[in-house]
Amino acid sequence: MTESPLVVVGASCAGTNLALAAREFGSQRRIIVVGEEPGFPYHRPPLSKAYLSGKADDQSLMLRPEKLYASQGIEFLPETRVVSIDRNVKALLTSEGQRISYGQLALTTGCRPRRLSLAGAEADNVLLLRTVAEARSLREAAQSARSALVIGGGFIGLEVAATLAQGGIAVTVIELEPRLLQRAVSTLVADALLKVHRSHDVTFRFGVTAAALELSGNRVRNVRLSDNSTITCDLVVVGIGTIPNDELARDAGLCCDNGILIDAHGRTSDESIVAAGDCARQSNAFADHQLLRLESVQNATDQARSAAATLTARADTGLKPPWFWSDQYDVKLQIAGIITGADTSVVRGTPEEGKFSVFHFRNGSFIGAESLSRASDHVLARRCLGEQISLSPSVVGDTSIDLATIVRQSKK
Ligand SMILES: Cc1cc2nc3c(=O)[nH]c(=O)nc-3n(C[C@H](O)[C@H](O)[C@H](O)COP(=O)(O)OP(=O)(O)OC[C@H]3O[C@@H](n4cnc5c(N)ncnc54)[C@H](O)[C@@H]3O)c2cc1C
Repeated sequence: MTESPLVVVGASCAGTNLALAAREFGSQRRIIVVGEEPGFPYHRPPLSKAYLSGKADDQSLMLRPEKLYASQGIEFLPETRVVSIDRNVKALLTSEGQRISYGQLALTTGCRPRRLSLAGAEADNVLLLRTVAEARSLREAAQSARSALVIGGGFIGLEVAATLAQGGIAVTVIELEPRLLQRAVSTLVADALLKVHRSHDVTFRFGVTAAALELSGNRVRNVRLSDNSTITCDLVVVGIGTIPNDELARDAGLCCDNGILIDAHGRTSDESIVAAGDCARQSNAFADHQLLRLESVQNATDQARSAAATLTARADTGLKPPWFWSDQYDVKLQIAGIITGADTSVVRGTPEEGKFSVFHFRNGSFIGAESLSRASDHVLARRCLGEQISLSPSVVGDTSIDLATIVRQSKK
């Protein structure tokens, strides 16, 4: 290990996978992963689900067993924030004033939740959810709360609403758009999720936003909405989107635009620096080459492996279709591909029972599918996207033939 180190900034899903993949692909460099959070990397998805409900403990969150890192020669520097990059001398500066030289640099800094820009947004019972520390605070607050207001009907807001409602808390969700998950799912899927939430007594208010927070001491007691109505609650959870952590890259002169811009192989505008995961924005072959910043475990993992291949001069790991999941109550939503811009949609299954898939097409080509509690459809949809198996609306619409047969026949 004579070359200068590969330094990874951000010790989470993308950073960990990148470090491990670099080793797997033969990197002989010293690998140092620097992260500002304490402890070893953990899974974020359970934070709004099993961890919040108390069904999962800290140990079960661990991304990989601790001993794996040592066996792969991967060093961690936890609780260390990188504050600047000097690209001329290839060195980083940490908040503790430590200087770390790099030969190769990977930025996997993720994103952070958008905060409410209202007076009182820092009150004790106004909570965000990104880190395990925030999940602990929310879990603790939920123990004594009888009512909660969730601001934002996106995935995080809805998962938190589901978990809190199942814990016996009276939950209200407010959403500025006229329906749930406006930019992420079809109306049919949004309506099905709304129905499930309502069956668990969650109240929804659409077309409104929080206008003012009324405090009693250090706690919000009432939230005044944009239509002048008021909601009284013990707890406020804010889920109004995220902001990419791209300031470090931007300050170092790397090209950024709502995320660190990367090419198809994870390279930033500096060839010795790659980026991956929630902080990165890339032209997406599954979305007409639009620049997208995806926030999912799949994206963080696959981009990380692709960037590691670039750093080790390996052939790229290949084009992987995007996919995502969300668990709410006993419903599993799975999305394969990028479904925005669809002009034709075909439903299979039984929407009235909440078990169905919507297959989406643009200009006659299959672009993705949403599946609600239909895991086998999701697996086949991913396979079709990954292997470029063409599906047509008329064939998928023929519900007398099962999907596996359709896929088999389409492959010929
Ligand atoms: C509550 C919750 C539920 C989710 N559920 C799902 C789900 O069901 N399905 C799904 O596909 N995805 C889900 N996600 C999204 C998924 O967890 C993310 O896409 C994934 O964590 C992205 O990984 P990442 O490594 O790119 O970024 P992150 O996980 O955000 O990690 C970035 C890390 O970099 C650190 N960092 C940032 N700047 C610096 C710096 N300057 N110096 C040092 N360290 C720094 C941060 O502290 C952080 O630890 C969920 C996310 C949350 C928060």
